[in-house]
Amino acid sequence: MDHDNSNDRNATNTLKMPVLFLGHGSPMNAIEDNEFTEGFKFVAKTLPRPVAILCLSAHWETKGTFVTAMEKPETIHDFGGFPPALYEVQYQAPGYPQLVDEIKSLLTETRIEPDYKWGLDHGAWSVIRHLYPEAEVPVVQMSLDYYQSPENFYEMMKQLHPLRNKGILIIGSGNMVHNLHLLDWKKLGVTDYAYDWAMEAGDKMKKYILNKDHKQLIHYRCHGKPFELAIPTPEHYLPLLGVLALQDEKDEVQLFNDQAVGGSLLMTSLVIR
Ligand code: ZN
Repeated sequence: MDHDNSNDRNATNTLKMPVLFLGHGSPMNAIEDNEFTEGFKFVAKTLPRPVAILCLSAHWETKGTFVTAMEKPETIHDFGGFPPALYEVQYQAPGYPQLVDEIKSLLTETRIEPDYKWGLDHGAWSVIRHLYPEAEVPVVQMSLDYYQSPENFYEMMKQLHPLRNKGILIIGSGNMVHNLHLLDWKKLGVTDYAYDWAMEAGDKMKKYILNKDHKQLIHYRCHGKPFELAIPTPEHYLPLLGVLALQDEKDEVQLFNDQAVGGSLLMTSLVIR
């Protein structure tokens, strides 16, 4: 990773914005200081200041595609069984309602609905609060449509590319390998512990990402058992696909937080710029 971010101090929002995929893992990462949150904080320092963030979170799935349109999105605590401190977190970033029309004008083949009920779920705020602890950057969420194929989703996301030149930081928040059913809770504290299948799927995904072989990633259902176990349901994987769709030919991909947790969860995150 490039440690010299001296140019970014003078950055303006006319620069092409990077794109991020953040492995969010446990909601507890929202309030812990650990190697993953350090990774988020470090990457944030290398980014030009965004006008607003558009976040695709694994935790917002809908019938159709919705974009939050409220001035003040609420902090949603969409999880159960965690300590009170996690429920007390409020991330009071403003919304950016004008982004809805901008997205509509780019996605002419997809019906985009404004949403006034959602807010910011933990897929968004648990990671974004490490990037922008002051909550000064407006945040908008876009939902994942249950009924959209991975191919169509990827093609749709490609059309959002112009937002990168308008100061919009697009973040996908999920986990490329995510199987909570098989998570070994007793090994959560063990550094970089992965089941063989998780390792195999993760290594293949990383190879496809670094080789820019997005076709293989779009057709993730064709890669047999390790991928079936790594992606038992698509919602934590699709934000990765959505982010890759925004990659330019000349962009570089940097991996960070490249570690497994509890055997079946990969925290690997990307910055594309
Ligand atoms: Zn999650």
